[in-house]
Amino acid sequence: VIESSTRVYAVIGDPIEHSLSPALQNWLIRRFDLDAVYVAFRVIPDRLKACVDGIRALGLAGINVTVPHKQAVIAHVDRVSPEVERLGAANTLVPGAEGIEAHVTDPVGFLESLSGERERFRGAAVVLLGAGGAAQSVSYVLGRLGVAQLTLTDLESGRAERLADLAQRSFGLPRVTAMEAGSDSLSERLARADVIINATPVGMSPHTERSPIGESGLLHSKQLVYDLIYNPATTRLLADAAARGAAVKNGLDMLIEQGVASLRLWTGKPLRLGARERGQLRSYLQERL
Ligand code: NAP
Repeated sequence: VIESSTRVYAVIGDPIEHSLSPALQNWLIRRFDLDAVYVAFRVIPDRLKACVDGIRALGLAGINVTVPHKQAVIAHVDRVSPEVERLGAANTLVPGAEGIEAHVTDPVGFLESLSGERERFRGAAVVLLGAGGAAQSVSYVLGRLGVAQLTLTDLESGRAERLADLAQRSFGLPRVTAMEAGSDSLSERLARADVIINATPVGMSPHTERSPIGESGLLHSKQLVYDLIYNPATTRLLADAAARGAAVKNGLDMLIEQGVASLRLWTGKPLRLGARERGQLRSYLQERL
């Protein structure tokens, strides 16, 4: 029941109508028995400052921020977490007595999505496709997982080089190389990789026939192929990888875990999902894709 005590959480973005966050967060609100509701607002870039002022005026309890506001929102908040400071992007606003603090839960979402797969990363050779916002969060975590070699690529080679530089200087990664998308040297790295992570939008609905790597012949059964995309649940890349015997993972668990992390920040409670519950939530969300 919605009452005057009910806390209001929301996601802001543009576009927003296909966001899975309301379905995800309202499932979590029911599961954790919170007196809260979570809604979505389309906020155009020109109204971002007015929106943040509105969050203060209405006393909203917590906000998720998605594309295209993850970077721009930082200019309008009162404080940022150390991770936001490093990554230059935020996805969670936590209003409090001393104003609004910006956090980013994509790194912890990626880390917690790995569950039993973490050991695969220690000493591993990893290829990360894409060097945008998601890739930045992922490479930050790869530094903590003890990855031995990271190869980065992006259609815009300058972006890959900048992230390679940041990863090496600030994220504690020992050997980072930026390579041209589609190059022979990248194909070689893909074939030798222990883990391949797709952080590009290539293969996302409606362009589901596309794969961010041309040939599936580079994939093999000793690899983990992790696609951050969750719509569709099985991308062309994951289907190709599974056909070659690789272990595969899509982006749903990361989405879920970054959402649980936001809710922990808003409530101050140590909320966590067990493996079975995460599976139930995954199925629930998959039906809504
Ligand atoms: P982004 O900032 O736009 O970054 C994507 C980058 O990949 C861009 O720099 C893009 O270059 C590049 N790219 C496109 N095609 C490529 C190719 N074939 N090879 C190499 N690089 C290529 O997007 P993002 O926010 O990082 O998101 C990336 C993906 O991760 C999206 O599919 C998003 O849905 C997913 N994601 C999932 C989660 C989750 O919780 N599961 C969280 C965040 C993001 P151009 O700009 O030049 O095209």
